[in-house]
Amino acid sequence: MANIYSALITGASQGIGLEFVTQFLSNPSVNVQIIIATCRNPENATALQEVKKTSPKVHILKLDVTQFDTYEKVVGEVENIVGEKGLTLLINNAGYMPGIEALDGVTPDALITTITINSVAPVILTKAFRPLLKRSAQVNATKGDGLSMQRAAVFNISSFLGSIALNDKAMRWCYRESKAALNMSTQSLAIELEKDGILVESFHPGHVRTKMGGAHGAIDATTSVNGLIATFLKLKEKNKKGFYTWEGNVMPF
Ligand code: NDP
Repeated sequence: MANIYSALITGASQGIGLEFVTQFLSNPSVNVQIIIATCRNPENATALQEVKKTSPKVHILKLDVTQFDTYEKVVGEVENIVGEKGLTLLINNAGYMPGIEALDGVTPDALITTITINSVAPVILTKAFRPLLKRSAQVNATKGDGLSMQRAAVFNISSFLGSIALNDKAMRWCYRESKAALNMSTQSLAIELEKDGILVESFHPGHVRTKMGGAHGAIDATTSVNGLIATFLKLKEKNKKGFYTWEGNVMPF
């Protein structure tokens, strides 16, 4: 079992984010000591509040990822929880997808909103948490094989729709653009944060039956997150490729 000191998940009120919180409490391959579940409306996040009742490991913090001026306060709250050992894992999971649009349906507002949530927020949040992630990388410098989730990592939940190489249908303009931008950020963050000992990767979670994925998704959130955690644990400095599926296959950018 891999020991992870602390993990923070954005968009943990439902879907894949909530499932990360659940499995960080129950998955036999990981022991996460501190789980920080962030969501924009904790008072309405009833499923998350129920999970919190089952374990003192779970902390819920309010974070709307578009409210950049609240990041400093949230980082302070996280620092108070994790202390000198820092933040081991940041999962940028919160996401938004407007409807299916062809070019005629694309509006500046929809593009800006989608890109703000899916691409700008993960970068600015990673920047805000960099000192705490770096602290974890230093404390756990001897753990694992170079860069790893046990040491310090930023995992971005992207989508195969963000792959430029695999785009043969267009449609979903805003979402595709936002996730392609996120993938570029993953690559740049991976290069810049390597010297701090922080691993950065993007993931496609599968077509998952959530509010966003709809009822006809191929897999449920349990299967997706189970696969993602198994994939996370396999990733090391020597095999980092940037973009993976929930099953651990390399995706083309
Ligand atoms: P859901 O719609 O079930 O959940 C999305 C989550 O993001 C919710 O918790 C939502 O919060 C949160 N969120 C949205 N906007 C904000 C914001 N401004 N600040 C903070 N949180 C916000 O979707 P999934 O669980 O399916 O999606 C999770 C991730 O997986 C996303 O990044 C998505 O793009 C990606 N993904 C999903 C796929 C799928 O098939 N489901 C396929 C490929 C990628 P609230 O409850 O308050 O609305």
